[in-house]
Amino acid sequence: MQQLHSPWRHLFPGIQQLNDTGQVWLDSAATAQKPQAMLDALLQYYQQGVANVHRAQHQPGERATLAFEQARQLAAHWLNASNSDCIIFTKGTTEGINLLSHALAGQFNAGDEILLSGYEHHANLLPWQQLAQRQQLQLKILPVDNHGTIEIAYAADYFNSRTRLLAISPLSNVLGQLHYLQPLFAQARAQSIITVVDGAQYAVHRQPDVQQLDCDFFVCSSHKLYGPDGVGLLYAHPKQHALMQPWQWGGEMIEYCTYQSAQARALPLGFEAGTPSIANVIAFAATLEWLLSLDKTAVQAHEQALFMQLQQGLAERNMQIVGQPDTALISFNAPEVHPADLAHLLSEQGIAVRGGQHCAMPLFQQLGLPGAVRVSLALYNDSSDIQAFFQALDKALEILA
Ligand code: PMP
Repeated sequence: MQQLHSPWRHLFPGIQQLNDTGQVWLDSAATAQKPQAMLDALLQYYQQGVANVHRAQHQPGERATLAFEQARQLAAHWLNASNSDCIIFTKGTTEGINLLSHALAGQFNAGDEILLSGYEHHANLLPWQQLAQRQQLQLKILPVDNHGTIEIAYAADYFNSRTRLLAISPLSNVLGQLHYLQPLFAQARAQSIITVVDGAQYAVHRQPDVQQLDCDFFVCSSHKLYGPDGVGLLYAHPKQHALMQPWQWGGEMIEYCTYQSAQARALPLGFEAGTPSIANVIAFAATLEWLLSLDKTAVQAHEQALFMQLQQGLAERNMQIVGQPDTALISFNAPEVHPADLAHLLSEQGIAVRGGQHCAMPLFQQLGLPGAVRVSLALYNDSSDIQAFFQALDKALEILA
């Protein structure tokens, strides 16, 4: 195996610490390790004296508000949003989709349809399922076949006059298949169907561009993007702002209120009730700045080369690959072995991979599989991690034989 070294690995103290304790991190699709630039920003924010945002006239308050709003501008730039009012800070992808499932509730009448793919993460299924149950809507599913593939080219055939919303991920956390959704979104727009992109995995491995995608909404999580936990982005197309109703009520989100009624603010503040995760938003901005400074072509080439090594090694061992992954992650099973047993034996050897159904239970029902072991890559991985994984896999298979 050709030795591929990550030029960014040394920037991640967590990787070093894990390695020093005999752990190999191949579970970045669950959450990513953090670069020093993010850790420095977090510490600096707390050390310089904290203040709440959007509330106070004092200098620390103004400084915190400025940094927070600069973070919003940077996030807008990173997503290529037309302006920073389109960016709502959330807790993460899950909260972003839950927010939408409430904020857009007024757009549906009983009998309307919501279209999802059959491989969506529970975060992009259950909030819509709940909305459908509350308002007597139909959930329609773009079917995944028994091999885990889906005919995106024909997805628009599932649109009809009752379809109001399409929610889909361009990169599944189980299948690792990349989907180019622009043509589908163009068809959706032509039929006034609202489009929601679950970008939780995609945003890490391809530069998201909401104008190019031409979606209505895009959500992602900082923690998978090498940033802190507890922060996410929700992008809302300017044309959709008027459709959205506030979902949480409280401090700093109203224009005006009396004891009996309240008038909410417009986006974004009308959707950020209460004190936000200020330190984490600011540290996420530092992470985005760091990400923007990287050579994206080099990052993608490195990740892809590692992916090929992983794919080749699994094929040589006749592992059963779930779906047809293109990038970043591979889910697989060893013939006749339960994925939980394999994940356990790998973890005993210090290999951090994830076994199970990866918050996609209906997909595994469809595939007729109890689950899968998922290996997922990030820019800090080296060939040495892949070699360690294969050594451990060979040993585990020997034990299980
Ligand atoms: N969607 C996808 C495709 C994911 O991979 C994940 C995280 N595994 C989520 C949504 C949920 O993200 P979070 O837990 O950060 O809210």
